[in-house]
Parts: sequence; C-alpha cells; structure tokens
Amino acid sequence: MSFEQELEQKIKSNVKMNEPMSLHTSWQVGGPADYFVCPDNISEIVEIVRLSAKYNIPLYIIGNGSNLLVLDGGIRGLVINIGQSFCYINRIEKGLIAGAGTAMTMLAKTAVEYGLTGIEFAVGIPGSLGGAVIMNAGAFGGYIGEQVKSVKVIAPDGEVKILSNDELVFGYRTSSLVGKGIVIEIELELAIGDKEQSRSQMEHFLSERRRRHPSLPSCGSVFRNLPGNPAGQLIENAGGKGLRIGGAEVSTQHANFIVNTGTATAADILATIDSVKKLVKEKYNIELRPEVKIIGEED
Ligand SMILES: Cc1cc2nc3c(=O)[nH]c(=O)nc-3n(C[C@H](O)[C@H](O)[C@H](O)COP(=O)(O)OP(=O)(O)OC[C@H]3O[C@@H](n4cnc5c(N)ncnc54)[C@H](O)[C@@H]3O)c2cc1C
Repeated sequence: MSFEQELEQKIKSNVKMNEPMSLHTSWQVGGPADYFVCPDNISEIVEIVRLSAKYNIPLYIIGNGSNLLVLDGGIRGLVINIGQSFCYINRIEKGLIAGAGTAMTMLAKTAVEYGLTGIEFAVGIPGSLGGAVIMNAGAFGGYIGEQVKSVKVIAPDGEVKILSNDELVFGYRTSSLVGKGIVIEIELELAIGDKEQSRSQMEHFLSERRRRHPSLPSCGSVFRNLPGNPAGQLIENAGGKGLRIGGAEVSTQHANFIVNTGTATAADILATIDSVKKLVKEKYNIELRPEVKIIGEED
C-alpha cells in the first residue's frame, strides 16, 4: 500500500493535496504543500505521525500561520494544521485548560469573563495557543510561558505526554518545546482578577495595536529585538522604512513589520528581509535575526 492509500484509509478528515499555503499564512504567501490536513482528534494525529515516519514523509505543524514565511516552492511533505477541533476552553480550579487550536484573543477574553487575570496581554495576538507556547508569544511585558502549568504533546514517537512546568524552559520568543512534538493542550494557572480592570486593560492593548501596527497582511515583528535595541528602531535609523522589493514593503508605520502590499511573493519578502539585515549590519555592525519561522522550498 502507498502513503496516499494508507492516508485515505486511516484518516477520516479531508486530506488536501497541493494546498496553497498562502491560504494558511497571515502574510498570504507561500507555495503548495504536498499534503495538508486539519485533524479531528488525537488518534488521527498519532496515525499521521506513525504513517509519515513509516513512509519517510517530512511533517510540519502549523497553527494560524501568523509567524510563518512559507517559500514559493511550497512544502515537500505533510502539513498538520492544529485548528478548529482543538479549539476549546475549560475552567478548572486554578485556571484554564485549553486546546492548542484556541485563538489567543478568544483565550484572553474568556479568561477575563471567568474573572481570571494574567493573559490580558494576549488579546490581539493573531496566533493559536499552540503556536504561542512554542514561540513563547508575549506583548506589553507579559508572555504566555509565565502562565503555563503543563503542556500535552504528541511526541515524535507518537506517545501522548504531559510536560510539566518544571520540565519546560521559556525564553525570549522561544521555548524548550521546540522539537518535543505536537502541542495539543495546555493548562494555564491564572489568578483571580477584577473583570472591569482586565476589560479596560484589554481595550487599551487593542487600541495600542491599532495605533502601532499596519493593517496590511504581515507576520508581526519580523526580527528579534536586541537587549536595549528594539529591531524596529535600528531599521528605522538605518533608513529601512518604506524599502520595497516587488510587493513587499518595510512598513512606513512600524519598521519591524514587512507588509504584503497585495502582490508580494515569499521571494519578495525574503529579499526584503535580507536587504534590511544588510542595512543594519552596514550601519551598526549588528546582525538582526528573524523571529519568523521560514519553511519550504524556493521556487
Ligand atoms: C499583526 C500581528 C501581530 C503580532 N503580534 C505579536 C505579539 O504581540 N507578540 C508575539 O509574540 N507575536 C506576535 N505575532 C506573531 C504570532 O502571532 C505569534 O508568534 C503566534 O504565537 C504564532 O502562533 P501561530 O498559531 O500563528 O503559529 P504558526 O505561525 O502557525 O507557527 C509558529 C511556529 O510554531 C509551531 N507550531 C504552531 N502550532 C504548533 C503546535 N500545536 N504544536 C507544535 N508546534 C506548533 C510551528 O511549527 C512554527 O514553528 C503577531 C503576528 C501578526 C501577524
């Protein structure tokens, strides 16, 4: 039996072939993935992990694709999108248990409605909770790793494991979960808060986002900040604002954002990333490092 036949036989969810990744990334660019599936449940994920190992098919995991640059040649392998079926939030004694597909904004708002505090900062982050714990997403001084009590993953060998907080390390936009498997569920420990105060804090965060961030498709901040040196400031001072290659442009509003003005390809964005790095290197002798994950093949 072939990989495709086994997939068809064992996976009930729709497996798409040659699926344009531009439909699944916030930059709206990226070539086709050979196989793309949004699994319904844990057993399907375990089966996919097993089959891809058996047939040597590379596996990629995505959430909302809001921190991903998929190159124009697309992805040779299978993309698992942790989405709708893993979108749930349950109140527990000391916080919440939520599925990895839960949107960060929904999570923040639901926590507040339960009278919990600690993740107001997450409102407006366009990622999923799974992507957020992998990236240790944060904003306005908070980051998700601070609230994580445990994480349920499907390990690369197909075993379901629960990793507790003391086994995990969260750093600046990184976590020790990278390479540990597919995140499916997260337990968050949250304190009791004041609903009204949390609501007005979230309003403030959302209005700051509207004020600071461009509205065109982007991936948020492209480069990692350096201690004491926000990447956007370095890029702006090096004259990078407005730099344009094809349909990609360094935002004139926020220099650490590269926006898709409508016709950008991943190659345009990649070339813009390289030009910005060069500019900052020439002016300050500083190497900027991308925060976004770059995957796939060039055309
Ligand atoms: C307008 C805008 C504003 C943003 N603002 C912020 C901000 O304030 N703070 C911030 O930190 N980020 C911000 N981001 C970036 C992005 O939203 C975050 O990094 C987010 O956490 C990524 O989540 P995602 O679900 O989109 O992950 P994806 O982009 O889909 O994936 C990111 C990485 O996580 C891995 N991954 C995703 N889900 C899983 C899973 N379930 N199991 C294992 N691995 C997984 C992927 O393989 C990939 O390596 C912003 C982006 C945009 C477009």
